[in-house]
Amino acid sequence: MARERLHPRLAGFGATIFGEMSALAARTGSINLGQGFPDTDGPAEVLEAAVAAMRDGQNQYPPALGIPDLRLAISEHQQRFYGLTYDPDTEVLVTTGATEAIAATILALCGPGDEVVSLEPYYDSYPASIAMAGARRVPVTLRAPDFAFDVDAFRAAITPATRLVLLNTPHNPTGKVFTRAELSALAEVCIEHDLIVLADEVYEHLVYEAVHLPIASLPGMRDRTITVSSAGKTFSFTGWKVGWLCASPGLVTAVRTVKQFLTYVSGAPFQPAVATALRLPDSYFTAFVDDLRYKRDLLAAGLSAAGFTVHHPQGTYFITTDIRSLGEADGMAFCRALPERVGVVAIPAVVLYDDVVEGAPLVRFAFCKRREVLDEAIARLGKL
Ligand code: PMP
Ligand code: GLN
Repeated sequence: MARERLHPRLAGFGATIFGEMSALAARTGSINLGQGFPDTDGPAEVLEAAVAAMRDGQNQYPPALGIPDLRLAISEHQQRFYGLTYDPDTEVLVTTGATEAIAATILALCGPGDEVVSLEPYYDSYPASIAMAGARRVPVTLRAPDFAFDVDAFRAAITPATRLVLLNTPHNPTGKVFTRAELSALAEVCIEHDLIVLADEVYEHLVYEAVHLPIASLPGMRDRTITVSSAGKTFSFTGWKVGWLCASPGLVTAVRTVKQFLTYVSGAPFQPAVATALRLPDSYFTAFVDDLRYKRDLLAAGLSAAGFTVHHPQGTYFITTDIRSLGEADGMAFCRALPERVGVVAIPAVVLYDDVVEGAPLVRFAFCKRREVLDEAIARLGKL
């Protein structure tokens, strides 16, 4: 009944795959390497800062753009890590997770008749937000094994109706980190066609061999890029839902117009805590990445030994595998059966593709879990 009442614009958007697979993990008591969330809390001082803010009475509506100190901390972070300068009063907006930053941007800039070019596989909220705006998505496929950016395919996807380009680097689910040459090629086309880029950089600090380069730092891109990030991944507080974006004042004003009426503001006591997090010393970021690199290598070796073809990730906390080496072809069927077979949950990457042939054999595993959990998952997968 409820589904019948859903507006046709959102036909096909049922439950998110992440929620569905986490529910399956809970129901079957499986190890959940599906939805990307850590199974340990982030830094204690950040947690304590949130508790202190709550006790200190920071529990009413914060300012619409976000509390000034968090906007300052975001601006300092862009300067510290990338040499990018943003005015905390006019060029930074705090949002309810990166998800809201993405939705509000698409709703602010796009409408019926507009096209949004999105590299695929894409994060699942992108097509949903494009549909909510009544716009049309135009996918450009990143193909295994290296998921290289095909500038000719990208150029061919641009039409006079193109309003926005969605870029995600480091990239979920493939773990790809876009190179300077790829970003430069993409930037050149965007400048030529006067396009705005939404750069989803929530995994900016989860990079192993490669270097993360914000596209906003390339010549001609700063004022046509909306850079989005979030405290969820960098500080292991995915449930706090504090995100942000940095852009030129006109773009921030446009997105804020929508954000005001989606949520108005975002979690007051978490905002000072995230300001504390963004100012943590380099040692925090290094230790976090070192731990995740170890876990990536552990799970990658386990998956290889179990017979999966591993597409080695340079960033994020996901490993995309190809199951054809296991004699399987259908990632969706494989993931639905995996809990019963061995008690492990993973994500079928096909749901993140329009090109379902390309996505069919790909399965994503998350490695942001305690080492003993990964060890147990590897032992179970070894029985396949
Ligand atoms: N973009 C990507 C690529 C993601 O993987 C996620 C999931 N964390 C998000 C955006 C959403 O982030 P948040 O939880 O901060 O809304
Ligand atoms: N970003 C997380 C992932 O890719 C999931 C977040 C969500 O469930 N919406 O696993």
